[in-house]
Amino acid sequence: MRNRRTKIIATIGPSSSNPEILKQLIKTIDIARFNFSFGNYEAHKKNIENIRTISEELNRNIAILQDIQGPKIRINKIFNNQIELKYNDIVSIIPGNKIQEKNEIAITYDKLFSDVKPGDKILISDGYIELEVEKISGVKIFAKVIQGGLLKDGKGLNIPVELKIPTISKKDEMDINFGLENEVDYIALSFVRSSADILKLRDIFKNYKKDHPELSSFPGIIAKIERPEALSDIEKIIKLSDGIMVARGDLGIELAFETIPKIQRDLIRKCQELSKPVIIATQLLYSMVNSIRPSRSEVDDVYNAVISGADCLMLSDETAVGKHPIKAVDTFDMIIKEAEKDIVSYRNATRPNITVEHNIARAVSNAVCELASEVKAKAIVSFTKSGFTALLISKNRPDVDIFAITPEKSVMRKLALYWGVRPYLVQKIENTDEIITTSEKCILDLNIAESGDIIVITAGLPIAFTGITNLIKVHQIN
Ligand code: ATP
Ligand code: MG
Ligand code: MG
Repeated sequence: MRNRRTKIIATIGPSSSNPEILKQLIKTIDIARFNFSFGNYEAHKKNIENIRTISEELNRNIAILQDIQGPKIRINKIFNNQIELKYNDIVSIIPGNKIQEKNEIAITYDKLFSDVKPGDKILISDGYIELEVEKISGVKIFAKVIQGGLLKDGKGLNIPVELKIPTISKKDEMDINFGLENEVDYIALSFVRSSADILKLRDIFKNYKKDHPELSSFPGIIAKIERPEALSDIEKIIKLSDGIMVARGDLGIELAFETIPKIQRDLIRKCQELSKPVIIATQLLYSMVNSIRPSRSEVDDVYNAVISGADCLMLSDETAVGKHPIKAVDTFDMIIKEAEKDIVSYRNATRPNITVEHNIARAVSNAVCELASEVKAKAIVSFTKSGFTALLISKNRPDVDIFAITPEKSVMRKLALYWGVRPYLVQKIENTDEIITTSEKCILDLNIAESGDIIVITAGLPIAFTGITNLIKVHQIN
């Protein structure tokens, strides 16, 4: 049976921390996500260690993705830890963690008063409660309740205006250091607003390296797209990061939710053009938090995400706090495989006009896919040091699996995110003969083809793994 090509991320939380459950998940998922808005270092570290041990046992290549909270404003303190808000009530929002009156809401961000103006909306708890700013007096914001409900401590606020709050807080910096220390493979930055945020994160990496020269590679950076400002700088954000996540949860609050489907499609297309992986996240199988079957519209959502060209799909609550984490992952896997059966037509629909600047690598990658299809190759084998060529080939959505052969362990793990790419770790290759023998060994080891079958090999010469990919060999296995 054909392998699944679109990759799966599962968020690890209370429902999935048991090693037995982790083991079942690891059989199917490609990436484990840790949300650093929740949990503590001890719990995350234990889960990461368990995942590494189990994936080694099962011989599965699992990447670790650390999700950084970013500038999420939360409620620090309210009267009695919860208040009932009714239409037309007036509340006052103040910075800090002390309240004096029943209608006061103390929040984690101390400059909100200077960012909002009368008429602006404030959404709380994923838009469940809605306020409108009436007036500002000193540091106090008076707001009218438009949509009431029971308001609880700790809930997040979304304010769809430009905020002066830094994208990376002190807590985030500590979390990032934790991630570097524990060699996570990807760091996802929440609420990215401009490409400068990505550069800031790279600076933090570089500063860390000054004190830790032993660190041999940095995590890949995933920009979470969930703020409207990010859309105006999207090209640069995609170019500077190693992939993006369409974070539909907060995006659907920050922007009108009916605009999300088109934004999702546009972002997928942009990532195809610029050859970067794109993750679709949030609520893909939301009803499976409680139910053992997905809703029909969720099945359609997953199917469509695959068909429209997503590289990777993500589960959040379903695996973090849901009742059926394993069932959710298996359901995801089933729907994705079904969508991929139609791979030729969806490749034709989504084959991008790749515009990345490396002409030779791009031309070679395109040609490899054409060739593989023409000669009915059993596999594409790509020798890659950074993973770049494998990604370019992946973005062409070839009919057969792409075996990315690399000498770098950190690259191998990052490849877990790329559509249709299966990594294979080797010692450094010294010459052209070794390119051929290693390719054959990989393909035979993994039972992909047999003697007489054709594979298409691509590498960079003069020496494999350095410089640009410029070689294609159509090879018959003997
Ligand atoms: P974000 O906006 O960062 O995605 P979220 O609230 O949507 O935050 P998810 O990562 O999507 O969070 O996870 C879904 C829910 O699972 C969270 O709201 C939280 O209640 C729970 N959760 C996730 N990770 C953990 C954890 N490590 N410990 C406890 N609860 C967790
Ligand atoms: Mg979420
Ligand atoms: Mg979010």
